[in-house]
Amino acid sequence: MENISLAKIVALAKRRGFIYPGSELYGGVANTYDYGPVGAELLRNIKNLWWEAFVHRREDIVGLEASLISHQEIWKASGHVGGFADALVDCRNCKLRMRADHLLEDFIETLQAELRENPPKTEKISSEELLMALKTAKVEGWSEEKMDEFINVFKIGCPNCSENKGDKWTAVRKFNLLFPVHMGIVEGDQSLAYLRGETAQGMFVNFKNVLESNRVKLPFGIAQLGKSFRNEITPGNSVFRTLEFEQGEIEFFFDPEESDWEELYETWKKDMWEFVTKTIGIKDENLRWRTHSDEERSFYSKRTEDLEYRFPFGFKELWGLAYRTDYDLSQHEKGASKDLKVVDSQTGKKVLPHVIEPAVGINRIFLMALSDAYVEEEGRTVLKLSPKIAPFKAAVFPLLANKPELMQKAREIYKDLSQNYYINFDARGNIGKRYLAQDEIGTPYCITVDFDTLEDDAVTVRDRDTMEQQRIKISELRNFLAQKLV
Ligand code: ATP
Repeated sequence: MENISLAKIVALAKRRGFIYPGSELYGGVANTYDYGPVGAELLRNIKNLWWEAFVHRREDIVGLEASLISHQEIWKASGHVGGFADALVDCRNCKLRMRADHLLEDFIETLQAELRENPPKTEKISSEELLMALKTAKVEGWSEEKMDEFINVFKIGCPNCSENKGDKWTAVRKFNLLFPVHMGIVEGDQSLAYLRGETAQGMFVNFKNVLESNRVKLPFGIAQLGKSFRNEITPGNSVFRTLEFEQGEIEFFFDPEESDWEELYETWKKDMWEFVTKTIGIKDENLRWRTHSDEERSFYSKRTEDLEYRFPFGFKELWGLAYRTDYDLSQHEKGASKDLKVVDSQTGKKVLPHVIEPAVGINRIFLMALSDAYVEEEGRTVLKLSPKIAPFKAAVFPLLANKPELMQKAREIYKDLSQNYYINFDARGNIGKRYLAQDEIGTPYCITVDFDTLEDDAVTVRDRDTMEQQRIKISELRNFLAQKLV
């Protein structure tokens, strides 16, 4: 895995129709992507599995689909208007704009060992903080002043030009990440709203609606899957960080006097790990938990941990898990001047629920799945995707396209299997090329109709991973796939 570069994965993704740069025909819009035919399938499969695991198979979680355009007061109450900002820095020489925390963290990652030996002294950053940053390569939560100081004392050069040796940066400044929307057609009369910066707020502002219109009872969760928007500057790691992205978030509400939050938290950790390894099929050794330090963690959170995946550009956050106390609901109680407490109908007890929030980016699961599945072996490139998420479950080939009897038989099989599975039909070029194409999009099985088929009613089934071939009766095909594709 370590040897596979992101460039190779991105090239395959473009070549085979997983992802394309957004608005490419007109020169592109940075950090936006379009999902091609097989990419759209992979993304949809991931979303469906997430929904199935966390909504349909859970008695204690219900779904929600909130509006993307939302009232500006929601984002004021949640703290996003005031605080949802990235610290940015510009190179005055080549005009590169970067997130300041990324500039520092990348620098530490490459020079970590040397730096720790002999860190320079500075009064603006305490030695404990400095050592922690050098140890973890994380500076989340640092002030602009501290980042400025770090750039100065370590003389961090620009990664894009050789002119700036640490002396040509602008001061670090904060930029808000929310996308404003101006509603109304009469200029001057327009009112400001925001495209949502996370799906989570939809669950908080609808908490009372859900509670009153459904037979739910604490502890219970509200889940949502949908687009969020953040005006981010990114170093271009494909779909890892984009301006619009799909989030899968759950707000799990509970009464802290009735439920043990640490127990709930551990159960969530287990459920998340299991989804990633068992359902998405990711290798355990490429995953790890990282606990947020006190400084990095939001002031209202009692514990935050990230499930990280070893992307080709290093271990990075895939899925965050935070115990957010009653912060969000209490903010909306204040912001909207409404009572959001739950009243126990038997005891009359009133409680403002606490919440544990697992929040994942579906596009990051997508990139993780491609990275984890990408293998180069024996002169071929193959995506060893779990059959559960593979765009096509099987492909059907007639050996020769110009033989009507082979075409007809292959079409019959295709039609029959398509009733249950998404199947690809390919009659172009030679069989070898067809196998290569299916390997590169991760199709688990290729089914070939040849001249023997017309005699024995059997087909050749080739396994993507082992490349082994076996003859299977057409009447047995459905059984075979049903067993293999569980
Ligand atoms: P990061 O530290 O990587 O910016 P975050 O801590 O701001 O992420 P959250 O607000 O907790 O992220 O969002 C939950 C999840 O949404 C993240 O774990 C990540 O998988 C995904 N996510 C966040 N921002 C983006 C983005 N710009 N593009 C794609 N996915 C994202």
